[in-house]
Amino acid sequence: MTRQATIARLGCCISVKTTILLRRTILLRAYSFREDQGQAILPSIRNRWAAYLENVGFLYSNVNKFIRITITSMLFLVTLLSSGTYAQRGEFRERGGESNRNWIQETGLQPVFPAGYRCPKITSAFAATTDGRGNRRDPAIHGGKHGGVDIGFDVGHPLIAVAGGQVVAEGPESGDGAQMEGIFLWLRHAPEDTGLPFWTFSKYQHLKERPMLKIGDRVRSGQVVALGGDTGTYSRKFGGGSLPHLHMSTFISEYEDYEVKGQNRNLVRARDSLHVDMMILFIPGITLDKARSNPQQDGIDKRLPVAASNWEGRLNDPAARLAWPVACKTAEQ
Ligand SMILES: [Zn+2]
Repeated sequence: MTRQATIARLGCCISVKTTILLRRTILLRAYSFREDQGQAILPSIRNRWAAYLENVGFLYSNVNKFIRITITSMLFLVTLLSSGTYAQRGEFRERGGESNRNWIQETGLQPVFPAGYRCPKITSAFAATTDGRGNRRDPAIHGGKHGGVDIGFDVGHPLIAVAGGQVVAEGPESGDGAQMEGIFLWLRHAPEDTGLPFWTFSKYQHLKERPMLKIGDRVRSGQVVALGGDTGTYSRKFGGGSLPHLHMSTFISEYEDYEVKGQNRNLVRARDSLHVDMMILFIPGITLDKARSNPQQDGIDKRLPVAASNWEGRLNDPAARLAWPVACKTAEQ
């Protein structure tokens, strides 16, 4: 049962209980009022009428009060149920969790960097149950498994386009990025950009500041797209203090169409997308079916050569369509 349905049921139950209680109270009070009046006054027809009218008046004012209380509580319930934040949060967590639960599995895939390049490494792998500091992950999110790849560095480290593509979202629209997501950027990569037989959606999180790029801008593989930072990492989730790193989430889909959702327009939802380890993009001959049927990537060589960009966004191999998403230092830097 969804959380909304539970609330609706609870709301109904409370309303019914309140109605019964109020009716009892009103009847009881009206009854005792009549008794008091009955003892206090002579049972003449005139007095009986007076008592009756007073009772009606008493009941009337109470019924009025009752109606007001009911309407107020119903309005409150309706507001609660229709409030976007509440409904959306429940819906997204459930949908993401349900459809992605099976795919968030450790792959053991490791990058092999070009000779002479010193690249920031993975500090928390896809599906890891601990974060970059070794703290246990929140079990409420993807069952405590990491929904992306973390790469650690110092604030201001250049972030690199993992492939050519287009900016499809960046934000948050309001605020300074203090929410858990931090400042973020979403790229969409076409099959022609990556050389892979599916569409790829990459989310870069915890940026230092809003990127210079705007929605719709094109990027090339290896280009510097933003600066890494620690926005959104101050929460308890990261064990206090900040933790500068890139959190990179990767979704692959047969389809190019997507919707931008979420409170901060931070969720790009591609149709029927698969939530995967970013590292699978570097597997030679990877397909959507292979990623789906073997999420752990068993039986393949897990050490994958990756191309790397330097701090100026220059690739070691200018023809490479896929690149390590964080800038690397070369011998001369
Ligand atoms: Zn992460």
